[in-house]
Amino acid sequence: MVIHKFEDNYRHKGLRRKLVEEIRSKGIRSEAVLKAMDEVPRHWFLDPAFLEFAYQDKPFPIGCDQTISQPYTVAFQTELLDVKPFHKVLEIGTGSGYQACILTKLGARVYSIERQKKLFDRTKEFLQKAGFRNIKVFYGDGYLGLPTYAPFDRIIITAAAPEIPMALAQQLKPGGKMVLPLGKPGLQYMTQITKDEEGHLHTEQHGSFVFVPMLPDKANGD
Ligand code: SAH
Repeated sequence: MVIHKFEDNYRHKGLRRKLVEEIRSKGIRSEAVLKAMDEVPRHWFLDPAFLEFAYQDKPFPIGCDQTISQPYTVAFQTELLDVKPFHKVLEIGTGSGYQACILTKLGARVYSIERQKKLFDRTKEFLQKAGFRNIKVFYGDGYLGLPTYAPFDRIIITAAAPEIPMALAQQLKPGGKMVLPLGKPGLQYMTQITKDEEGHLHTEQHGSFVFVPMLPDKANGD
């Protein structure tokens, strides 16, 4: 991600408008989510050589064997997360930082954890340079969450979890929601978990997706 300038011209905005309409036609209803997607220049999150790919409804490699999710998937998961202004949101899997930026456009204060050091360093620098605020990034193992900042109104996991990470469920406020792709490698169900006022978890599943795996422990420099 070698970004020298943060240009967002009429051509970019036009391509983005078309992408947002495509996502709407695929069933996303939340105007707040669609507006957030219209506001974040997705091409900033990819290498400038790949501009034409930034506004296709497809995932794209971002290095370290990771991908920026397909825009429709980001919209679907964000809609289920039901973010309100001033919510404290924990994200697992910072990746390119795109999902985190969408959350801040909805008024969230985002805490995001990435286990790949190289990706973490690059994205941290990028978010500062691009001037995205209200995102704190952490290098660490997302399975552990951030106990010192808990509890969270919302938790979003952007990698495939084989089971519900219980440390994260504990860091959710009563009345809070967590959305994660849950399942084996190759196929997951988008799962919305609601914690009731007594602390019980209620689970709903919404459609199948394929994410890169949520891996244990931090990865080192590679
Ligand atoms: N939200 C990202 C998508 C990233 S892909 C975006 O908008 O670009 C999933 C990311 O989860 C990868 O960067 C991967 O390194 C990270 N990841 C996987 N397991 C993790 C864990 N246990 N803790 C933190 N990050 C993890």
